[in-house]
Amino acid sequence: MGARLVQNFIGGEWVKGEAAKTHPVRNPATGDLLAETPLCGAPDVDRAVQAAGAAFEEWRRVPPVERARHLHRLLGLLEENAEEISRTVTLENGKTLAEARGSVRRGIECVEVAAGAPSLLMGQVLEDVAGGIDCESIRQPLGVFACIAPFNFPAMVPLWFYPFAVACGNTFLCKPSEQVPLSQEQIFELVRKSGFPPGVLNMVQGGREAVEAILDHPGIAGVSFVGSSPVAKMVYQRAAANGKRVQALGGAKNFLVVMPDADMDATARAIADSAFGCAGERCLAGSVVLAVGEAHDEVRRRLQEKIAGIRIGEGTTEGVTMGPLISEAHRERVRSYLEKGVEEGAELVVDGRKANVPGKGWFLGASLFDNVSPGMAVAEEEIFGPVLCMSRTASLDDAMETIRAHPLANATSIFTTSGKHAREFKYNVPASMTGINIGVAAPMSFFGFGGAKGSFFGDLKAHGRESFDFYTDRKVVISRWS
Ligand code: NAD
Repeated sequence: MGARLVQNFIGGEWVKGEAAKTHPVRNPATGDLLAETPLCGAPDVDRAVQAAGAAFEEWRRVPPVERARHLHRLLGLLEENAEEISRTVTLENGKTLAEARGSVRRGIECVEVAAGAPSLLMGQVLEDVAGGIDCESIRQPLGVFACIAPFNFPAMVPLWFYPFAVACGNTFLCKPSEQVPLSQEQIFELVRKSGFPPGVLNMVQGGREAVEAILDHPGIAGVSFVGSSPVAKMVYQRAAANGKRVQALGGAKNFLVVMPDADMDATARAIADSAFGCAGERCLAGSVVLAVGEAHDEVRRRLQEKIAGIRIGEGTTEGVTMGPLISEAHRERVRSYLEKGVEEGAELVVDGRKANVPGKGWFLGASLFDNVSPGMAVAEEEIFGPVLCMSRTASLDDAMETIRAHPLANATSIFTTSGKHAREFKYNVPASMTGINIGVAAPMSFFGFGGAKGSFFGDLKAHGRESFDFYTDRKVVISRWS
């Protein structure tokens, strides 16, 4: 008997996709087959958009405070089931249970913030913009929105979007990553239980074909995407050419600057967590340490110590601090960067291929490269694995020049005890998520989330107040009653 087929959720019901092909969902820690994702295409996407479109006119008329009540019910169910969802995240993605719990908490926080929609949706009024004429600006929903999610945060990323979209009165289609559909499937069962009217929230499983059908569907008003930069750029261009609103969050190469005056112990801890947490499969992972002057030798020594303390294994095992990579193919890709780095002349200080890892599963130890210089593949490209690069740099100005020269600008951090250096850094670097003595500069759900340059295509970022701008039209009404 084959593995269970993951279902679509359309019009308030679980339904089988029409896809002929499937993608295997495997536990990255063991390789065991967990389920099969149907690779749905245009017919299933169309069915979901029809359901969402049919639900829209009634849903937009539901008073915002009542819409928020649905989110409050979902919130309660998410809290009750948070542990089970976290365990599924570990099972399908491989990250440790502590990391999975943290990510589910972040997703729940999005629902909490979105449930504040009645206040956040309020408009503006000015009396007498001309004699006896008043002007008001009101927010109105736009119709059906969709999100397309990556593999690395299966429960959290979709929750960056649909709670806000439906709180604004839109209806929604979620397309999880075909590699990790299981925790979102659990969450959508809670959506069903929380009593949203049929068609308000829908989910279709699949990969590229489903994405293309979403981008081309005339019934979809806007698309939120999270994934790699080449796909983000394609999504942005194709959806925009089809007249949709788009926010497309892409890949990253995050630079961490260490000044000689930094608190070295706290800095090394923060950098190691940033680079090797979630096995480096995170868009906010530190990728390149730029150690200024004499900071270099101490940072390098302390990072080696931190790496030696990493315990690799299955994410649910007590004491494990780093899980496996998502797939065998991805592990091979990350390994190929270790080869390229050595070929291009970087010094492989710690070789993760030699780490003590379980026999089964797609494990890879943490690696550290030193003497990495601009132009090397490991310095330029997103590796998305537990590989940290470092180099010595002469000054803060030189470090900021390296950061500004890179085409990606998702996150960056400085470690220093000098307010002057910190201010200069935050003023001058292009990355939209900037940390000061913080290894993972992750905005909470009441702030916007997203990068700049090649890390983000669009203008309005994910969650926070910007979400209410993305998911509504700000209609201006000018009235004269004489
Ligand atoms: P990916 O780009 O391969 O896939 C993302 C989504 O796009 C998936 O749903 C997938 O089914 C679909 N897709 C993949 N290839 C496609 C194609 N050619 N045409 C149409 N659709 C396609 O990304 P991933 O490997 O799942 O996730 C890792 C990437 O996501 C990394 O680059 C990471 O930096 C990025 N990411 C960014 C953020 C952020 O906030 N900027 C957050 C998380 C992950």
